[in-house]
Amino acid sequence: MHMFQELFEAAIVGGGPAGLSAALTLGRARRSTVIIDHHKPRNKMVRHSHGFLTRDGLSPREFRELAKEELKKYPSVRFINDEVVDVRRNHKIFQVTTKNGVLETKKMLFATGLVDVLPEIDGFDAVYGISAFICPYCDGWEFRDKPIAIIGHQLADFHFVKALYGWSHDVALFTNGKYNLDDSLRQAFQQKNIPVFEEKIHKLWHSDGQLQAIELESGQTVARSGIFFNPKTQQSSLIPKKLGVPMDQLGQFITKEDGKTNIDGLYIAGDSRNHLHQIIHAASDGAKAAVSINMELLKEAWDEVGL
Ligand SMILES: Cc1cc2nc3c(=O)[nH]c(=O)nc-3n(C[C@H](O)[C@H](O)[C@H](O)COP(=O)(O)OP(=O)(O)OC[C@H]3O[C@@H](n4cnc5c(N)ncnc54)[C@H](O)[C@@H]3O)c2cc1C
Repeated sequence: MHMFQELFEAAIVGGGPAGLSAALTLGRARRSTVIIDHHKPRNKMVRHSHGFLTRDGLSPREFRELAKEELKKYPSVRFINDEVVDVRRNHKIFQVTTKNGVLETKKMLFATGLVDVLPEIDGFDAVYGISAFICPYCDGWEFRDKPIAIIGHQLADFHFVKALYGWSHDVALFTNGKYNLDDSLRQAFQQKNIPVFEEKIHKLWHSDGQLQAIELESGQTVARSGIFFNPKTQQSSLIPKKLGVPMDQLGQFITKEDGKTNIDGLYIAGDSRNHLHQIIHAASDGAKAAVSINMELLKEAWDEVGL
């Protein structure tokens, strides 16, 4: 077990776009910062990530490597490859326990992201992140004018149908089980030639993750090349909850706009608190939280000197 002697000014848990962006701002503000990450990002299976200005189409792995390369310029930022397993707060200092060590810090930022819970459909794991996606703004362009399936039977999924119609008119809804669709909605889908399949899905046919068809329990197959769906999500880390940060109905942490939580010195950034799940928003969130952390540290130092 490694004990760090240094008292860090900021510790960031999570080395995704939110955490890395916070590290850049804190590094440039000359803050002694440690970033602890165990390399399990939400988009780990994705080959090309879209919509981040100047980085459109880059793989998530390359994105993180580029960010880490840039951070090497700032000597006060240190990386630790490890998993944070516990955090305690004592007299304004956070004690962070990882699998391999313990360190102390004045401020903490959780940028630990979410984990998606996939529908239990044979073949879903294989297509996820390759031809099954969660965000039209991230991956809709690649499926423009192509046959798209929306899987789900919540109100949000029906909104998804409407949204995806902007990318392709060849959209089909799969409720994956009997569902009493509202008459007005059924009519609207009929008018737009959007078929609704209410049978359970038996399996997904694909080649190397590229969806080819959806097979229903009756044996009917429907040719489709992409899926969009609203996944259920879980927090990657529940440590902020243990520390007393409340969660909303969707399981996201409730914070102020800059990520400040109800716990003094504790911040959250990225998908864990922000409902806009895109890299650019996560990066922006991390930068915002880092500015507030820096302002708090500046104020504390200023007040201490008594100017
Ligand atoms: C299939 C799919 C496709 C997507 N495509 C796009 C796209 O094209 N464009 C786009 O903008 N967005 C896309 N996204 C969304 C994007 O991936 C997220 O918005 C973004 O990754 C959120 O960043 P984050 O930093 O909040 O979390 P993450 O990127 O998930 O990073 C969280 C990090 O925290 C670490 N961590 C968690 N718990 C601990 C712990 N206890 N100790 C140490 N480390 C920990 C994890 O290992 C991980 O590295 C996609 C998402 C999915 C699922």
